[in-house]
Amino acid sequence: MFKVGMSGLALMAMSGCAMMSEAQLGQEPNLTVELPVTAPATPEPISEAYVWDLTELYASPEAWDAAYDDIKARTATLSDYKGTLGQSAEAMAKAFRATSDTAKDMVRLYTYASLSHDEDQRAPESQERFGKAQGLFQTFGEATSWMDPEVLSVGKETVEAYLAEEPALEPFRFTLENTLRQAPHTLDEKGEALLALSGQALSQPGQIYSLYANASIPWPSLTLSDGMEVKLNQSGYSRYRGAENREDRKAVFDTFWSAWKTYENGMGATLNAQVLSAVFQAKARDFDSVLERNMFDDALPDEIYTQLVTQVNEALPVFHRYLKLRGRMLGVENLRYYDIYPPIIKADTGTFDMERSKELTFAALEPFGEEYLGLLRQGLSERWMHAYPQEGKETGAYMSGSAYDVHPYVLLNHNDDYDSLSTFAHEWGHAVHTQLAKSAQPFETAGYSTFIAEMASTINEILLEEYMIAHAETKEEKLYYLGYALESLRGTFYRQTMFGEFELAIHEAAERGEPLTGAKLTQIYGDLLRKYHGEAEGVMKIDDMYAVEWAYIPHFYYEFYVYQYATSVSGAAWFSEQFLAGDEGVRDNFINVLKAGGSDYPHNILMNEAGLDMTKPDAYQAVVRRMNNIMDRIEALLDEEE
Ligand SMILES: [Zn+2]
Repeated sequence: MFKVGMSGLALMAMSGCAMMSEAQLGQEPNLTVELPVTAPATPEPISEAYVWDLTELYASPEAWDAAYDDIKARTATLSDYKGTLGQSAEAMAKAFRATSDTAKDMVRLYTYASLSHDEDQRAPESQERFGKAQGLFQTFGEATSWMDPEVLSVGKETVEAYLAEEPALEPFRFTLENTLRQAPHTLDEKGEALLALSGQALSQPGQIYSLYANASIPWPSLTLSDGMEVKLNQSGYSRYRGAENREDRKAVFDTFWSAWKTYENGMGATLNAQVLSAVFQAKARDFDSVLERNMFDDALPDEIYTQLVTQVNEALPVFHRYLKLRGRMLGVENLRYYDIYPPIIKADTGTFDMERSKELTFAALEPFGEEYLGLLRQGLSERWMHAYPQEGKETGAYMSGSAYDVHPYVLLNHNDDYDSLSTFAHEWGHAVHTQLAKSAQPFETAGYSTFIAEMASTINEILLEEYMIAHAETKEEKLYYLGYALESLRGTFYRQTMFGEFELAIHEAAERGEPLTGAKLTQIYGDLLRKYHGEAEGVMKIDDMYAVEWAYIPHFYYEFYVYQYATSVSGAAWFSEQFLAGDEGVRDNFINVLKAGGSDYPHNILMNEAGLDMTKPDAYQAVVRRMNNIMDRIEALLDEEE
């Protein structure tokens, strides 16, 4: 994510798909399907219909250059407003309007540069343009960095009086109130300067992790039972850990984790440094805990985090039921941790090319109703999407909705398999969310939080799963889609919450002053692995060696972030359970949540528009019911056979 130093104006996130999946972070291409690590490029030339049309942003590179000069000049004038905010309501409105309008145009400029760069990252002219856009973004941040401190020094009383007096300030109300909320956690000028100076040093643990994980560790090789020799680096591990031959996957685990085990002490010191710098930053800004500091940005109550962990713990028997079912389907009696990845069902689903993906997504999302479908229809019929892999193109998938005056853009690396279809539905969920937010909000409040964004995309995955299950033609196909849905709940609801519980435990340990060594981290993580996978209940055994897995998870260098996968799937299940059962009121509430954009804090939006209270147990129970319901359906199909 890209952020600038003008918290005020709530710039729309630069990349719409704000959540980084484990796959995007360099591992865990998930689920029950076996995927090639890199998508093969499509052999035939790509139809123009599947390549986005960037001329809607700028007619030509020359037009972009002209806009660049214009915005650069306007950015240079923004510091002229310094010192004027407290003069009058009108003066404040004038400064905010100029800044916001410049920001809106700059984001459009940046979007063009970044999208054309992602089409082919090797193209020198795109690299240059992208570099210029990044530089301008930086300049813009510096030219407006005085605004937040000045709003704080004008003070709450005066700002509120201005808001009451001057209608032109209304679009900035949320922004201004949010800035004022920061007052207790903002230091004096000297303190802020010191913190800014410490930033680079404090971000080093993540760099060290990445050097080890991606380059420095000498990865071992392994000969599989079919004689093939494979290198177990990160992507080799992801690819072979789900091997059908049980001895093979055991050997993959043993080999890969013993490589990490060699680095247990060093990686422990690295993660400890990360945790200590988080504790320092929370204390420096007068927060009670690292958790509180991380929840503060979106004004999320800490109880959301703790309630999620509590509810997932209560629902562990449901996870254990899945593991036992997995054992039954794999024909394995004494489950071990390396039995978690092999697909439980294989089925011939056919291929999902672009036309079929469009049709299926459209049909699956029908329950959303006409307004939603109309926006989707428009997007799918115009050239908003760069759909297929090509040389030099950015990997993965995202939606970019930042250019307010233009439609959103979607980047995919569509591979014609079911995983690609699911990603297709996910990203189009972000795109329609963006369109709905823009239809109801001005630029200033159209940008929405990750907390809600991933509900909008995850719910599409659920609707797609249900559609595919309902329309499967054979029993195997039905089992395949049910298994896919089940595995996706394991990966998001249980695994991410386990990560979240680990993060909370290690930060709390550091806050109590307990030293975190590699061995200690392995012990904390191993206890959680055993609890989640039901070792004491005889469900699955976790070998000691595998408890070093924490050392490999990149998310622990992004504080308190992964729990949002679990809250998103919980919220998405909560909404979809009700409106798939025909409750149109709940569906309309959901659409209103999307339309609210960033006009309020996400917890308030969910409460006010839909009555969904993520601090309460109820918010997490629909997803558990969904998991049980899927397993009921699988077991019924399996029992039919016997
Ligand atoms: Zn997403």
